[in-house]
Amino acid sequence: MNGKKRILTGERPTGRLHIGHYAGSLENRIKLQHQYETFIIIADVQALTTHFEKPEILQKAVYDVALDNLAAGIDPEVSTLFIQSQIPQIAELTIFYSMLITVNALRHNPTIKTEASQYGYKDLTYGFLGYPVSQAADITFCKADLVPVGEDQVPHIEVARKLVRRFNSLYKPILKEPEALLGDCPRVVGLDGNAKMGKSLNNAIYLSDSEEDVSSKVKSAVTDPARITLKDKGNPEICAVCAYHKIFNKEESHNIEEMCKNAGIGCTACKKNLAAVLNQFLEPIRDRRIYYETKQNYVKNILMTGTEKVRECAKQTIEEVREAMSIRYF
Ligand code: ATP
Ligand code: MG
Repeated sequence: MNGKKRILTGERPTGRLHIGHYAGSLENRIKLQHQYETFIIIADVQALTTHFEKPEILQKAVYDVALDNLAAGIDPEVSTLFIQSQIPQIAELTIFYSMLITVNALRHNPTIKTEASQYGYKDLTYGFLGYPVSQAADITFCKADLVPVGEDQVPHIEVARKLVRRFNSLYKPILKEPEALLGDCPRVVGLDGNAKMGKSLNNAIYLSDSEEDVSSKVKSAVTDPARITLKDKGNPEICAVCAYHKIFNKEESHNIEEMCKNAGIGCTACKKNLAAVLNQFLEPIRDRRIYYETKQNYVKNILMTGTEKVRECAKQTIEEVREAMSIRYF
């Protein structure tokens, strides 16, 4: 197209985006959007793998995710936002790929295992188990080179790479093997100390949270439970507040950790400082959100034109795929 390498990245529209998304993936895509041709997928079909009983949530969640991307700094003049379900070629590619991977490989995928227990699934649906296969189709239909993601997605990128190799060696080498690009902090812990901040886990600081929300959420964040009084020495390794300082308050974080270890700063002061830092970081994001919120038609247009543009690319790839597989009859 224009000689630039391509990025494919995105989210499931299961809720609003949080600071974990920012550190895991958004920061990189915002930084690289001028250097790479950037495609951002709003993966509504994949949202159904866990939210199939309530498809009506997608309507609002798709716009929330689009707004969060734009508010965070995605420039709609250079990046392309699109909606997964509106590109039927992705579904077609998913079916072809599904022949090239075993059920066992999917069952043993560590992220599938973690998420299955998170959602309390005993009997996995075909769609849930096939989530990485559908993701491989998302990444490869546009022949993406790079995929900025958080740590939980690494096993899925590996699935995509394997599927590409298998397809290319079985049929014709037309597909591109993508590479994962991990963010500055590939796994941001939750406010509750859970290993992952997640939008379905109710343990997140959202990019759209108000100043007051941020302050009260930070107050509730899990710290070293053994640190009860100011005189107790803390362990920053098991403190969510220290983890956030490390990501969003890089300059001060080393000092803060030392003070925590030596009982030189109390948790209340440390949290106050963090809330101020986070609110400062979120300020421009809030401003841009207000700007886009007042331009709903513009945002709709961004999604419509983005989806149209991407569909052309999908049509081209699916033609090549059918040709490689000799699926042509007329
Ligand atoms: P859900 O809980 O509904 O699965 P999620 O918060 O995991 O939501 P996704 O849409 O599944 O969000 O993930 C989108 C991207 O954000 C992925 O690249 C994922 O790795 C990244 N991401 C999500 N949570 C975190 C986190 N806590 N730290 C770093 N990256 C994250
Ligand atoms: Mg997820």
